Formats: sequence, C-alpha cells, structure tokens
Amino acid sequence: MVETRKCPFCGGRMVPSKVETYGHSTYFWVPPWKSKTTGIFTKAVYGRVWLCLDCGALIPYVNRTKLSILREEFEVLRTEGKV
Ligand SMILES: [Zn+2]
Repeated sequence: MVETRKCPFCGGRMVPSKVETYGHSTYFWVPPWKSKTTGIFTKAVYGRVWLCLDCGALIPYVNRTKLSILREEFEVLRTEGKV
C-alpha cells in the first residue's frame, strides 16, 4: 500500500519517492537555530520528494517526527521573543 497525500496546488493525488537521495541530489533545510534534529555529522534536515500524479509537481516534505520537533523548537524561541 502506497501512502498518498493531497497536492496543495491542484488537489490531486501525491505519492512519495522511494528514496530521499539519488546520487548527490537531496532536498535539505538547515535550522537557523541549535536543533535536536541535527548534530555534528548531520547538519541538515532532509525532505522526501512527493510527485503529484495529476499536475506533475515535485514537492519535498520533512517527516512528521522531525517536523514536530522543529515546530516545538520554533514555538519556544517565539515565546522567548527570539523570532
Ligand atoms: Zn497537483
């Protein structure tokens, strides 16, 4: 069973790529604050690309576990008035 999600552009069906990286190609984001999701060896958060089967859009998404950690970290910084 392949996981699907709704395309934010056309409302179509999106399916994820089998892998997060291919050759040297990756989609990444480096947190602009000190984050639990990154360390000495992993400086970035990687996204998995999804393809919309209706409009052809390719969109990278970060997994929910990492996303919830980053959201919490951001909320703390906001509470402290740092963002
Ligand atoms: Zn679409």
